[in-house]
Amino acid sequence: MLDFWYKGLPQYPKDHKDFWRTRLIAHSLLTATCYFLILTLLNLFYFDSYDIAAIDAFGLLITLAIYLWFSKTANVHAAAWAVTIMVASLIMTFVVSVGGLAHSLFWATLIPPFAFFLVGRNWGSIFSGIAFCICAYLTYKQQQLTVTVGLGSLFNIIEVSIAHILIFRFYEKTRFSAYDHLTMRNIEIQHLAETDKLTGLFNRQKFDYELSQLITNSKKTKTTNCLLICDIDHFKKINDTHGHIVGDRVLSEFANIVKSKMPGHSVIARWGGEEFSIILPNTSLIEAIAQANQLKECIYAVPIANIPLTISIGLALIDPNDSVLSVLERADSALYKAKNNGRNSVYFRDIELTIATS
Ligand code: GH3
Ligand code: MG
Ligand code: MG
Repeated sequence: MLDFWYKGLPQYPKDHKDFWRTRLIAHSLLTATCYFLILTLLNLFYFDSYDIAAIDAFGLLITLAIYLWFSKTANVHAAAWAVTIMVASLIMTFVVSVGGLAHSLFWATLIPPFAFFLVGRNWGSIFSGIAFCICAYLTYKQQQLTVTVGLGSLFNIIEVSIAHILIFRFYEKTRFSAYDHLTMRNIEIQHLAETDKLTGLFNRQKFDYELSQLITNSKKTKTTNCLLICDIDHFKKINDTHGHIVGDRVLSEFANIVKSKMPGHSVIARWGGEEFSIILPNTSLIEAIAQANQLKECIYAVPIANIPLTISIGLALIDPNDSVLSVLERADSALYKAKNNGRNSVYFRDIELTIATS
């Protein structure tokens, strides 16, 4: 039933500002349609009150007209106004017609949640203010009466209470949906802020953060940690010969190879254009040398995008007294040595530690 009813109405994604307003409009129109239909039939066939049945049928027609018009125009703003006016006037007509007796005033408490949600704070206040003024007047007029609480009062209280529970459930749903959406967006934003778009690796900012955390922790844990900086040799030539698009593809595929070759707990980032930095936590110098050489050999052995490549690697041991800058400088200066001494090699300080296998 609900799906059928919603089908004709404008469809928005859950994070759209009009999603929940459209829902409330749709629910209100459906409730009003059912309500008027039942009242028309009851008055027509059970109570034989043809004049009241005519009024209910008129309400039914107006509700359906708003529904059809809304599904045709998808004008949420205007539909929100139409529904607010319809709900407020229906409630107030009823309350005034029974002189505010039989706890009918309770119905007026439904106006604020509708009006605030559908037409905003200012108009919501105006609608609520008018409704409560009328209620206050009716209450004032009841001063002289000895008010008895009958079955009508009981029904009014029960019906309005149910409506209140439903509408507050609706409010809570919209609130939680907004929180969920915000949390998802924050995760996305954080991911974007720390990721390199081309390779999907961490960016330099995130890498520096991870490195500073590791240095701080290493003061307590006393573990041995290493840092590598890898640079693709003569990458400019690849761009010049094959173009930047191919250059980008090489960088992206290179990043995938690094990810697959390095241990799962390593922290890998794109440090600059064709430079990649890797933290190897809990790794001795000997192990780090082996890892670096394996990567160098793997790149040498398998061309990327049919282009033969070599890389140079600078290696540094991370000291607990290091700063982010000091350890990066040591790895960079080792890389510089590798570049100056023929490339396709692994350097630690001034020493070449290449394990030549090819
Ligand atoms: P070396 O062996 O000394 O490292 O030489 P190189 O050519 O690799 O180094 P150089 O620093 O001279 O050039 C790096 C090149 O990387 C220049 C720049 O155009 C290219 N580059 C940087 N970022 C990107 C990128 O995102 N995509 C592409 N396609 N090229 C990039
Ligand atoms: Mg290079
Ligand atoms: Mg470079």
